[in-house]
Amino acid sequence: MPSVDATRAEELPEELPSPQTLAKRLGKWFSDHQRDLPWRGTTDPYAVWVSEVMLQQTRVETVQRYWDAFLRRFPTIERLASAEQSEVLEAWSGLGYYRRARLLHRGAKYVVDELSGVLPRRAQDLLTVPGIGRYTAGALASIAFDEPAPAVDGNVARVMSRIDAVVDVAQQPAAAARHWPRVAAIVAAGEPRVLTQALMELGATVCTPRSPTCLTCPVRRQCRAHALGLADRIPAPKKRAKSPVDSLWALAVTWRGKLGLVKRPEEGLLASMWCLPLVPRDDLVTPTAEHVGTLLGVPVSRASASAEPVRHVFTHRVWEMQPLVVTATRKPKTLPSGDVAWLAPGQRPEGGIPTVTEKLLLALDKNT
Ligand code: SF4
Repeated sequence: MPSVDATRAEELPEELPSPQTLAKRLGKWFSDHQRDLPWRGTTDPYAVWVSEVMLQQTRVETVQRYWDAFLRRFPTIERLASAEQSEVLEAWSGLGYYRRARLLHRGAKYVVDELSGVLPRRAQDLLTVPGIGRYTAGALASIAFDEPAPAVDGNVARVMSRIDAVVDVAQQPAAAARHWPRVAAIVAAGEPRVLTQALMELGATVCTPRSPTCLTCPVRRQCRAHALGLADRIPAPKKRAKSPVDSLWALAVTWRGKLGLVKRPEEGLLASMWCLPLVPRDDLVTPTAEHVGTLLGVPVSRASASAEPVRHVFTHRVWEMQPLVVTATRKPKTLPSGDVAWLAPGQRPEGGIPTVTEKLLLALDKNT
């Protein structure tokens, strides 16, 4: 169902703004107004690949802190491919969405093992690399190799939905078939490398989700949503389903002054990352020393929910964690559930720790 009055769009000529005009205006605007970002200075395909993966679902300001350091640690595809996964996750530590790091690592191994370490130039060939999807293939092919391949993410889909005044909600997202040939035509009408980045930049800085600054927009005269006064109504706001909330105990088990962290399973949230052992609160209704001792299989002298609760919001899930400070009098054989690392105060496990663990340790620190 259209979210805005579709008849308004009919007030405009049927013809969409021409790719040539859009390309010309976007190209000029980008060369005058682009932000000075570190990855803009390179066309090295590997470096572009790393930046594109990092930028997915992560703010530019955050990526700026990581991109350079990551490339210093893994300066080539070969170096990344030969690294241990724990080393890659450590370099990614704090960036979130760790699945991206594992896929990038797997992709690098594939490129080295199967493609002699050389990334393909064309988007359709890049799609053969594990972890490279349609968007990343288009971004890499156009930015690194100047191929006229479209790259449509949420930002670009929003820009195109507005320029073309797409009122059909089903045609507004990045997955909608209509955007890809439109963007392909625009990037082919000039320098693909520049135009791909110009569309992304316009979406990030001018044609923003809320309150687009149309007065400063280089394609204001061509934009149909602007002409119809619909810029703030296209695309339609997403109805987000409420995320399920997991209510958990985060066990801060100490034995002889060392804290036990567990490595999470290889699949699922925070896969292979270090975290405090998490136990659903329904599985441990009364967290007395006796009950916690039974759970751990060793005597426990203290079990106290004295630290502040910690909330962590994932894309589709929320964890509400109550730290439970536990002192074990014997070393537990295992902790729920995974490999255990016993760490002295201030020590960090190999592979780094995700933000959620940082938050829990901070809450515990404040309490002690
Ligand atoms: Fe977006 Fe406004 Fe520019 Fe149209 S004129 S592309 S709505 S910023």
